[in-house]
Amino acid sequence: MSCNIAIDGPAGAGKSTIAKKIAKKLGYIYVDTGAMYRAMALYLIREKIDPSETEKISTKCREADISIGYENGEQIVYLNGENVNAYIRTEEVGNMASASSPNPDVRKKLVELQQKLAASRDVVMDGRDIGTCVLPNAQVKVYLTADSRVRAERRYKELQAKGEDCDLDTIERDIIERDRQDMTREISPLVQAQDATLIDSSHMSVDEVAEAVIALL
Ligand code: C5P
Repeated sequence: MSCNIAIDGPAGAGKSTIAKKIAKKLGYIYVDTGAMYRAMALYLIREKIDPSETEKISTKCREADISIGYENGEQIVYLNGENVNAYIRTEEVGNMASASSPNPDVRKKLVELQQKLAASRDVVMDGRDIGTCVLPNAQVKVYLTADSRVRAERRYKELQAKGEDCDLDTIERDIIERDRQDMTREISPLVQAQDATLIDSSHMSVDEVAEAVIALL
């Protein structure tokens, strides 16, 4: 049987950094589910669909073939065969992902893909609904969070390092709004699974968090 580690939490809590580190240490595959919702969002943006057009999102999402592969240990997301890794890390795509991810057709399609990936492999999967919905039987479940200002500062540094123009207060506002949308949606809201361990990374280093998760295993 494969071993699954589920890491959920709000935007910018450090889920992907931690999940990548643990996957490398344990020789597991890292699955970034947010990247799949982002690829879907990119498709919808390219198709000039507004987040409020629920029915159009339901129809259009069927045309988006999303798959993932790995190159040198890095997850590559393909949208209709195109590697879109370079286009999905913007605030615009993140906000569209948050606005379109409540759509049941979008979720059904991506959850199926995620469950298939985890069925036959040892994975560390991060997202919003992994412990509660995608992998309810995961051997380890973590709910990783941090203070919204700390999370905004981390995003700010990431964006600055990429040379992107950004403003800390705007990022924090976006993060809080994205959390609100993710936590209050009807289907698979972001919530700590009953059997998940809460880790607040506000005052912890990456190594400390990674060790805490591995200790749970
Ligand atoms: O984690 P990331 O910021 O890349 O995710 C972008 C958006 O995708 C989230 O704000 C959330 O709305 C959606 N998402 C989701 N379920 C997941 C992963 C991401 O709804 N498992």
